[in-house]
Amino acid sequence: MARIPELEIGRLKAEVNLARLVEASGLKLEKRGADLVCRCPFHEDDTPSFVVTPAKNLYHCFGYGAAGGPIDWVMKRQGMSVRHAVEFLREGEPLVGASTAPAGAVKASTVRALEVFGADAMMRARGFRHRRDGAGGDQPDVQP
Ligand SMILES: [Zn+2]
Repeated sequence: MARIPELEIGRLKAEVNLARLVEASGLKLEKRGADLVCRCPFHEDDTPSFVVTPAKNLYHCFGYGAAGGPIDWVMKRQGMSVRHAVEFLREGEPLVGASTAPAGAVKASTVRALEVFGADAMMRARGFRHRRDGAGGDQPDVQP
């Protein structure tokens, strides 16, 4: 099992703006009272039964009862594991809260997460993982 600090999961659940995350995936949310609604992306939906409650930062589908927070949303929407969803959300920090930070203010931790996510995704896409330590693989280990 991948070890993801509970603290980090809690932070992402609290700080990642779920409504913006949903809209970033191409869905159009409409206001309905204190909630935001749209047609559910997870099942055939004639009337908007997918509800985002900004106050709780949670979604709920009245069509078939799915519910969750930002991490659940990413896992379901992108078909990711928990670990990748967390990395995806770390990477997507511009979606967190009101993003008014200057463009140059990229945290070192964000860059590192990006690199980890990018490299891992690339290897998965290629269907292999390589664990070679150095680049000098062409040299024979033992010289005669
Ligand atoms: Zn649904």
